[in-house]
Amino acid sequence: MAFELPKLPYASDALEPHIDARTMEIHHGKHHNGYTTKLNAAIEGTSMESDSIEDILSNMDMSNGALRNNGGGYFNHCLFWEVMGPNSGGLPSGSLAQAIDTAFGSFEAFQTAFSNAAATQFGSGWAWLCVQKGGNVEVCSSANQDNPLMPGIGCGGTPILGLDVWEHAYYLNYQNRRPDYISAFFNVINWEKVSELYDQNR
Ligand code: MN
Repeated sequence: MAFELPKLPYASDALEPHIDARTMEIHHGKHHNGYTTKLNAAIEGTSMESDSIEDILSNMDMSNGALRNNGGGYFNHCLFWEVMGPNSGGLPSGSLAQAIDTAFGSFEAFQTAFSNAAATQFGSGWAWLCVQKGGNVEVCSSANQDNPLMPGIGCGGTPILGLDVWEHAYYLNYQNRRPDYISAFFNVINWEKVSELYDQNR
């Protein structure tokens, strides 16, 4: 079974003014589509054709560049579209809110830690909020299309929130102002979805 590019769960202009429609169209239709096509090419004719993307990532041969870049790119963007939405932002609630308070002391301290991880990731990469078995959450970042499900990335657990800090994610609207893009991201986080992922993976 080949992997398919998922449809965006909202219109491409739904996240404006925080993320513009043109960026969403290129990011989803060109970049994510490219990762999907190249992932399928990388697994064609192997036993991975019947594996889930999570299994492919957690059993990754990190020396396989095509699989690492495109498998990561496929998964990371699937998560990214899901954890954003229109009429979003605000604060998490329930068990996730408690876990964030336990780990960071407050939502504001979490926001600072996550924003710093995104701002200080040199070059292309992602910032993550991950949950470990038992329910603890942590923030980290990784380079390129790596993610915490892959072996040896150093940020354990399951990613439940990811922020793409590749320039293709923000350059049309924000140019070099990555910090402005990071702060705008907090207006489009779909905390209901992040909470659902927390509860499924804790
Ligand atoms: Mn991207």
